[in-house]
Amino acid sequence: MVGTEAATTPAIRVAVGSAEYDRAAAVLEAAREAATDVRVVETGPTGAAALAPVVLATADDRTTVHANVSPDRARELVETLDDGELATDDAHAVVESDEGVSMAETGPLAIGQRRALARCGWAAPAALDESLAERTRDEPDDLREAVAGAGLLGRGRGDGHTDESIAEGWATARESDGETVVVVNGNESDPAVDGDRLLLESRPAEVLDGALAVAAAVEATDVVVYLNEDDELAAQRVREAVESVDADGTGIDVVAGPDRYIAGEMTMALEAMEGADRLEARLRPPGPSEVGLYGRPTVVHTPRTLAQIRAFAAAPDEFETSAADPGSRLLTVTGDGVAGPTTVELATDTALAEAVASSEYKMACVGGRFGGITRSLDVPASAPALTGARLGTEGGIELFDGATCALEFAGSRAKFAREKNCGRCVPCREGSKQLVDLLRDVYEGQFQPSELRELSRVVAESSTCEFGQAAPRPVTTAIDTFEREIAAHAEGRCPSGVCTETN
Ligand code: SF4
Repeated sequence: MVGTEAATTPAIRVAVGSAEYDRAAAVLEAAREAATDVRVVETGPTGAAALAPVVLATADDRTTVHANVSPDRARELVETLDDGELATDDAHAVVESDEGVSMAETGPLAIGQRRALARCGWAAPAALDESLAERTRDEPDDLREAVAGAGLLGRGRGDGHTDESIAEGWATARESDGETVVVVNGNESDPAVDGDRLLLESRPAEVLDGALAVAAAVEATDVVVYLNEDDELAAQRVREAVESVDADGTGIDVVAGPDRYIAGEMTMALEAMEGADRLEARLRPPGPSEVGLYGRPTVVHTPRTLAQIRAFAAAPDEFETSAADPGSRLLTVTGDGVAGPTTVELATDTALAEAVASSEYKMACVGGRFGGITRSLDVPASAPALTGARLGTEGGIELFDGATCALEFAGSRAKFAREKNCGRCVPCREGSKQLVDLLRDVYEGQFQPSELRELSRVVAESSTCEFGQAAPRPVTTAIDTFEREIAAHAEGRCPSGVCTETN
């Protein structure tokens, strides 16, 4: 039985996410205590942490969005709605809609579009309006052919087909021997990339429905949802959604892996799911589509990819299928001048700059932990454009102000690579140490950009998995963008005034 979204109004919605859990839970409790006739719905987060706790009040085709709500204010909003009124005076936004968190005119909810995010902050996490899985069970060819025809690409570093054709991966799995399994890889521990966690906390029913639809399309027998062991709210809501979705005999397991960056890499995720004590990336080929979880053909998708598939299936006419990367991308904006992590959805032909409210930044790191450094965000959000600009596609934009030193930043990311790699292959394991050493030499008066670039090239081209392939990117792009600033350190001067001898 599919849990459905009740459409009755008036209603008060309280968005509760892990980042603001205690404050939002107090607001929810106050709203429930005050309510007599109005319906009070606990939803997941909206993606805009700066607005939390968020309360939506809906009546007569209008919705008011209230930000930073206290329990006392929540009681007032409920009482006002009980009297048949909407409190518009101090609302963050007033939207002429009762069908989701439509675009506000200003603030974080006004950025980009809300299709994959349409019901984040609006629907109860376990509720589902339309089931793609049910449709796909009746006509599995339809989804396969539509996804192939549209050329949809996977999203996020943990996907089995990151920035590559989803349909080709499905075809490989179907042609491989064994019972196919679908894995939802929701273990993203990078704090700068929050799209998957947002979907798991807000729309777990949609994530599961997407996974069940893929299972039907590739004739898989079961779905395994792989989470970060520290994401307790996501786990709770996914388990509740498991009870509400219509699996129609498809098995669903929920498992957790360690809160480690490498545990989100696709093959190390499989190792963690199989209970390995020591995580090491698997050699490819064969990839998981052929030999994956317990040797079975395995289709691995992130929640972001599944949300994209559902958004496409719901409105294929709205996708520009002639584009190299059709659809949209979820981007989390964090850093200096950002009041709170904000996850927005941009069409892939929209410039990253649209996601950022301020232009007061010195540089941005685009693409998560091993993203690329840039001064300009005038780059479309599509995979080819980001890659062409030597930025990452993982879904994060970190902003840094003038108090950030490009050399110190590059060094910190190189140290992360040195300390957090799995140790399996020499280029990454030893190359990351050498990168740290060469960057440290700059403080000793030796800046060797050619050696740094050549070492980075070797590490990127010969490492076994995406970790090592991406790890040098912050270093090379920092050198290319801030070469003079970095060179100044070799003369004993940090132009940003932040470096000390301990760097
Ligand atoms: S690239 Fe790094 S993380 Fe990947 S297998 Fe090699 S050592 Fe391990």
